[in-house]
This record gives sequence, structure tokens and C-alpha cells, in this order.
Amino acid sequence: MDTTPLTGTPGSPEPSPFPGALATHAVHAGREDLAALGLHAAPLDLSTTYPSSDSRGEGLRLDEFAATGAQLQGPPVYARLDNPTVARFERALARLEGTESAVAFASGMAALTAVLLARSAAGLRHVVAVRPLYGCSDHLLTSGLLGTEVTWTDPDGIADAVRADTALVMVETPANPTLAEVDLAGVARACGEVPLLVDNTFATPVLQRPREYGARFVLHSATKYLGGHGDVLGGVVACDEAFARDLRRIRFATGGVLHPLAGYLLLRGLSTLPVRMRAQSATAAELARRLAADPRITDVHYPRLGGAMVAFEVADDPHEVIAGVRLITPAVSLGSVDTLIQHPGSISHRIVDENDRTAGGISEKLLRMSVGLEDVEDLWQDLDAALSGLRQPERRRPEPAAR
Ligand code: PLP
Repeated sequence: MDTTPLTGTPGSPEPSPFPGALATHAVHAGREDLAALGLHAAPLDLSTTYPSSDSRGEGLRLDEFAATGAQLQGPPVYARLDNPTVARFERALARLEGTESAVAFASGMAALTAVLLARSAAGLRHVVAVRPLYGCSDHLLTSGLLGTEVTWTDPDGIADAVRADTALVMVETPANPTLAEVDLAGVARACGEVPLLVDNTFATPVLQRPREYGARFVLHSATKYLGGHGDVLGGVVACDEAFARDLRRIRFATGGVLHPLAGYLLLRGLSTLPVRMRAQSATAAELARRLAADPRITDVHYPRLGGAMVAFEVADDPHEVIAGVRLITPAVSLGSVDTLIQHPGSISHRIVDENDRTAGGISEKLLRMSVGLEDVEDLWQDLDAALSGLRQPERRRPEPAAR
């Protein structure tokens, strides 16, 4: 677990009021204005609009904001331009990732869409990407829905795949769902002048800060570990201020804003992120160790970096294992306080062509588990029983109508 002070991180000009380690910043960053407001807890501002006597729009030049994306000064104007609650989360995340700025969106996919649109507005539509990526990210690139052309390659092929019109190089590490890792410093070198986008959802800034290896854009599905409790959907891009302005212009014009309640929950989530990551990773590492020694398991994927995700391949039917768990919830998504399991080939990566899935190392025997905060012995007991086929595939789930 990284406890090095965050002050002096390259590309982080916003002065911190104190030196300190990541755990300290996780609790205090983004809250710099609270004392002046006479508040202890960060407030939730749900306003969509704000009263103003500036009827001529002299203080706020909407045309200027639309053209530059420079952060508005003065009181907020309209919730699609900015929101103080969301801005606190953005400042905090930028501090943790060691970047100048961060821009939040309605979801991780909205964040990736904004990055692609911003680059394509600059005439750059070619993307170089390394599989596997999260299934819907793969789909967004492959489908060409945004006019993107993608070249898939392994990390060694990046330098050759880059072209004059390459918008960015995209990697996920550890990757969803195989937990494959790439050497970020090597990849950043291979990118040359082309920006490297790293999806840091699985590692979080607690385990890895891609900016320190030369990544220019750091993407999160904030829905996962940043929120941490499975009750908020969001996305965020940490980057330099120049690109943040491009992203704000896109967000303003296309409207994929993060809801203030989500911003509130995400700021609160960040304060416990280091503690959650430490506890969940320790349990995941222990489960990975036990699975690796188990004859019912043919392969275990657990990152060298650590983390709270474990993927494993079973000798028998993976769906029987899912049907057999009782404490662990069979569900897509990850990063919550409770443990979830799913079959990527059927769910999270079903949208990816079968041959591409196989080439990306996603076998039909693979299960992906997001390890929560439960006691390790309780989790192991549940997994052990499910792997032994001890339970009938009866589920305790209510009918979907009961909402
Ligand atoms: N990136 C990764 C690694 C993910 O796992 C996900 C979702 O599972 C996303 C991006 C997309 O995020 P969201 O579901 O918040 O749009």
C-alpha cells in the first residue's frame, strides 16, 4: 500500500494545504472551502439553477465558457455548467491521482465517450487499444458508434500501431476481467507523443497512479471502488487542465453530467477508499492463495499489484459454482463492500465477439469475483461449498416485480 507523500507529484500544481500521504488526502482533499463556509461535512447542493442579478450575462460569458471550458469563477449558474458538490469530488480525485484536474460524468461510459469526442473534435479518430478492456469499452471502440477506428494490439505492438491521426492509446491494468497487467512505463514510452489513457478502475489511486508513469488521461468507473457501496453511478477523467477544458466543453454541450447526489456520495466514498482497498485486497489475496492450492481450480488470476478482484477458472461448470453461492451475490459490477461473482463470457463481456474474447484470454471457464469486506472464513466457506456442488441451484432471490 502506497503511503508516499502526494505533494510534489508531477502535474499537480494545485497547492495542498499540508504535505501528507494518500490516506490523509483521501479524507481532506476537495474540502478546502468548508472551513470558510463554516461547515464540517460537505454540503449537497441540488440546485439546477441559481438566482442572478446579472441579466446581461456580463459576469458570466456563456459563449466564453462554451469556447474555452475554463472553470467558472464566481457563483454557479446552471447545473450543466458546474456544481460545487461535484467540483469537490473532482478536486479530491485529481489530488489522489496526482493530476492538475478531473472532470466527472454521469457514468464511466459517459466519461470514455467524452474523451473520444474531445479527441475526435480535434480531428483524431484512431484509437490503439490493448485487450482485454471492460466489455462495453471494447464495444464502444469496436462498434464505431462514435466514428472511432480501432487497432487492437498487444503492448509490444503499440509503437507500430500508432499513426499520425491516433487520438489515444487505451489500456486497462489490471484489466477487466482477466486482471492482466501491463507495464505502464513501457507502454507510455511506446506511445511517444500520443496520449495514453489508462482505465484505473480496478487499481484505484491507492494501488497505482498512472500519471506517475506518463499516462495523460486516467479514467475511472466511479461506480466501482470510488463510490464503494454499490449505490452510485459515475465516471471521472483525471488529466491536465488543458484537456479538462476540452472535456468540460463536451460535457456542457452534450449534458452527461454527474448528479450532485452522486458527487456527494463519491466524495464521501473517497475518504474510506484507502481503508476499504487495504481490507478488501488482503481478503482477496488470501482467497486467491486458497484457490491456487485447490484441485477444483485450474487457474487463478491475481494481480502482482494486489487489489480486491480475483479471477479463476474452474475445472467443472462455472455456472454451477455461481448457482451454489449463498453469501456471495451473483451480480455484474464490482468494487462494493459486499462480494459479487459473475461469468464474464455470459455477462460483462458477452458484448465482445467470441473470438476476440478468446484472444483476450477470457475463457468460458473464467469467473470474476469482486471481494468485499466480509470475513475471509465466511467467504471461503461459501466458495468451498459452491465449488463442491454441495448446494442445489435454488436461489434466494425475490421475483423482480417486488420493488
Ligand atoms: N471501466 C471498467 C474497468 C469497468 O469495469 C466499467 C464498468 O463495469 C466501466 C469502465 C464503465 O463504467 P460505468 O458502468 O460506470 O459506465
